[in-house]
Formats: sequence, C-alpha cells, structure tokens
Amino acid sequence: MSDQATDAADQPPTFADLGLGDRILKALRDIGYESPSAIQAATIPHLLEGRDVMGLAQTGTGKTAAFALPILDRLDLTQKPPQALVLAPTRELALQVCEAFEKYAANLRGVHVLPVYGGQGYGVQLSALRRGVHIVVGTPGRIMDHLEKGTLDLTELRFLVLDEADEMLNMGFAEDVETILADTPVDKQVALFSATMPKQIRALSQTYLKDPVEISIERKTRTAENIRQRYLMVSYPQKVDALTRILEVENFEGAIVFVRTKNETETLAEKLRARGYSAAAINGDIVQAQRERTVNQLKDGKLDILVATDVAARGIDVPRISHVFNYDIPTDTEAYVHRIGRTGRAGRSGDAISFITPASGTCSSTSRRPPAPPSSRCSSRVSRRSTSRG
Ligand code: ADP
Ligand code: MG
Repeated sequence: MSDQATDAADQPPTFADLGLGDRILKALRDIGYESPSAIQAATIPHLLEGRDVMGLAQTGTGKTAAFALPILDRLDLTQKPPQALVLAPTRELALQVCEAFEKYAANLRGVHVLPVYGGQGYGVQLSALRRGVHIVVGTPGRIMDHLEKGTLDLTELRFLVLDEADEMLNMGFAEDVETILADTPVDKQVALFSATMPKQIRALSQTYLKDPVEISIERKTRTAENIRQRYLMVSYPQKVDALTRILEVENFEGAIVFVRTKNETETLAEKLRARGYSAAAINGDIVQAQRERTVNQLKDGKLDILVATDVAARGIDVPRISHVFNYDIPTDTEAYVHRIGRTGRAGRSGDAISFITPASGTCSSTSRRPPAPPSSRCSSRVSRRSTSRG
C-alpha cells in the first residue's frame, strides 16, 4: 500500500500554532525540533487550556514534551512550594524527564526542576526542596517517603503528571500512586500518559481525572510491501561509522538519511562530505527554492545523499532513492511510514534501515552512562509487519 494519498495531506501544525509562548518556541528552535509530533499536537492545546488529559501513544513519540511544554508555559515562577509533580516509573525515566524540562526551559530564567528518586541521598533533595523548586520529577516510592517525612509540600500543587503510567502500574506502584494522588489538592490539573491502555489505567483515569480529553494516537498507516525494512542496534557515538560502513557495503544509488533536528542535518551532511560522499542537508530553515535545487541535484545524480528532517523531506519523489536511513528514530509511526515511503517509488524496490540507540538519561547532577557495547551488523531480519515501531 502506498502513502501517496497521505503525502497531499495538510501541513502539520507548528509549535506556535499550539499556543506555546515565545521563550519556549525559541528553546524548541534551538533544540531543532521542527514540528510537534502527533501526540504533542493533539494534547498540548488542551493542556494549555487547563483540561485533564489522557494521552496514549507508543514509546518514542514525544510524550515528555507533550506535558513538559504546557507545564513550563503556565508555570508561576513566584510560587515557592512545588507546583508540578511528575511521577515516573524508574530513576532513569525520572532523570530523562528532568533533563527534558531543563532543555525546554533554557530560555525561562530561574526554573527549578528537581529529580527525586530512591538510591540518592536525601540531603540534596532536602536542601533543594527547602530552597524551593517549581517542578518535582520522581519515582512513586521516594515521593511517598518524602510525604511521610513531611519534607515535600504538595498543598499548592497545580499540575500532576502520571508518566509512563502503564509501566508504573506494571512495577507495582498502583497503591503508591493512589496514596500520592490522595495527598494532593482536589483542584489541580492531571495528565496521564501511557503507551498502552490496560484496564487499570482506565480505572485510574476514571477515578482521578476530571472530564479528561482522551487522545489515542493509533498506528494506522501501513508500509509498502516492496520496501525491505531492517534495523541495527548502534550506540550514539558509533552512528556515523555505522552509516558509512553500510553505505560501503550496500548497493545504494541515492539515499535519504533522516535525523531529528535541523542542526543535525548540517553536522551529519558535513561529516559525510568529509568522508568523501556527496551529501547535502535539507531542513525547514532552508528556503524552498534552495531545497528544490538540492532535491533536483539528487534527481540528476549530482548528489547522492540527502540528510533531512521530516518536514523538509515530505513528499520527495525521487526514483533513484534506493535507501532510507532512520539515523534517528522518528517520533511516530506515521512519520516512519512517510520516511521510508521516499524509497520504493515507481514500482521499484527499496531499503529502509533504522538505527536503534539504547536510551541513556542524565540530569545535571548525574554522570552519563558508558556507551553500549559495540553493536552487531545490520539485522538480516526482514520485517514484513504492516506497521513498525516508531
Ligand atoms: P516517549 O515518552 O513518547 O517515549 P520521549 O518524550 O522520550 O518519547 O521522546 C523521544 C525522543 O523524541 C526524544 O529524544 C525527544 O527529544 C524527541 N522529540 C520529542 N518531540 C520531538 C519533536 N517534536 N521533534 C523532534 N524530536 C522530538
Ligand atoms: Mg516517556
């Protein structure tokens, strides 16, 4: 099944369309996010309005920003007791969320985000709490400890997020979560994000969310049968080498390499040129006329590799694209389908190769985990599934 019909679909909304403030928009530009993912586009306007939201979308679809951006947008920097609490199932995830908040708050002066998890001494947490933090991101167990000790004041809480709610329940945190929820003001906004929707989540939502907007991002689009889909586990520092090795061994004619950010299109294109490939970057900041010139060069064989963001590559129809690389995993399955649909055009066959990178989360106070061990070769497993994970 081809995605040609959906190519013509309306342009996706921009972050500005969602109603986010200028300083947050600037941070997003600096990070290089080009447009909101599906779950972000669907939930952010409701969260900005103050509605309770239940958001369901697969892993890797950008759920963190879906709640973090509206919370930051509506933060009251003068309030001393914590006003936002995010519950996450693990220390890792809590740190990732905390790091994301800090990134998105880069242009908001004086936002304090505190990760709170077991295994870390109480000292740091206590002194930060005394100084005042706006946002607490923590695992249910440690949050409970603080509540019991009376060291975490949730009386002024305005936002509560249950992140990765299904995982949290899987890990046996149901009771803790309920106890914490019971200890917060009635009049607050609650958001629940989850990758799946077991019965327990539905029950939780019915009990604790007030008239929630329910958003579920379905995996609906199918990928074409004539595209061979493979993936490769590769740690972040090894991605460039992995890509060039594959380009050496694969019989490729033209390729599009998809990355997440505008900045990365430039840096990766530069690295590929340094390694002798004729590569160019296209992203949403490059004017349309220039983008068209670049695409025409690819068409004419004057250029072999485009390094692109999703927006810039939308609808590109160049038959000689034999390979699509998901150098960075896309934010949703729709994007995945659009991306790999750039190959296998006009009845040809195509190859899609995705790089899967083990997650590693850090927050300002912690050190980075060592990179994963060297990865295997491209998996020879050919996926014929109708959809693929984003
Ligand atoms: P989830 O919680 O749904 O599993 P995350 O919030 O952890 O997903 O996001 C996954 C990755 O996508 C992160 O690396 C994040 O920086 C990135 N990301 C999120 N939103 C966007 C966006 N709009 N454009 C580009 N990358 C994004
Ligand atoms: Mg998440």
